[in-house]
Amino acid sequence: LFAGEVDFLKGVVAMDGLPPDDRTEVCFAGRSNVGKSSLINALTGRKALARASNTPGRTQEINFFTLGEERYLVDLPGYGFANAPVAVVEKWQRLLKQYLSGRASLRRAFVLIDSRHGVKAVDEEIMTLLDRSAVTFQAVLTKSDKIRDKEREKVLDQVREKLSKHPAAYPELVLTSSEKGDGIATLRAIIAGLD
Ligand code: GDP
Repeated sequence: LFAGEVDFLKGVVAMDGLPPDDRTEVCFAGRSNVGKSSLINALTGRKALARASNTPGRTQEINFFTLGEERYLVDLPGYGFANAPVAVVEKWQRLLKQYLSGRASLRRAFVLIDSRHGVKAVDEEIMTLLDRSAVTFQAVLTKSDKIRDKEREKVLDQVREKLSKHPAAYPELVLTSSEKGDGIATLRAIIAGLD
């Protein structure tokens, strides 16, 4: 669906670097190591597209990709680094808040949750920020190939329970595996359906 028309546009470190707010936009947020780069690569059909954004020095940037002529896909910096300096964390939290509260064309945030771990405290923080910014968000479970059917229901229940407390949460979850390809077409269709 998007392959061949996806390009890296730029990494943004300050509000004045944001591209014009004139396209339908979706963003991806998640704890570091949740599988965000893998998912973006699977979605766009471009191996290593998001890897550039994972190299040291780029991790604090908001990375913009163009999807055709009409959409931006935005890769937000991974959060929850155990040993990130406080000043760095505060700087990016500030940028993140500014971005989320001021981006009129941001239609949806996808909050990635590791299927094995469910919703953690740091995920709740970002969800609360999205509530306050009035940005609709949808939970995307990653690495679904790593859990058994029995555990899956437990995790889904936990995620649903957590989401029910967040006014900006979209109720429908998407279960994905970048490795197996599960849920990727569904997620693409969701993005393509936003206008
Ligand atoms: P990021 O830090 O959120 O960008 O995470 P990455 O995409 O770099 O993935 C972190 C680790 O999880 C890597 O070792 C990936 O190979 C692995 N991973 C990512 N997605 C999947 C998946 O769908 N299934 C499995 N089994 N492993 C995955």
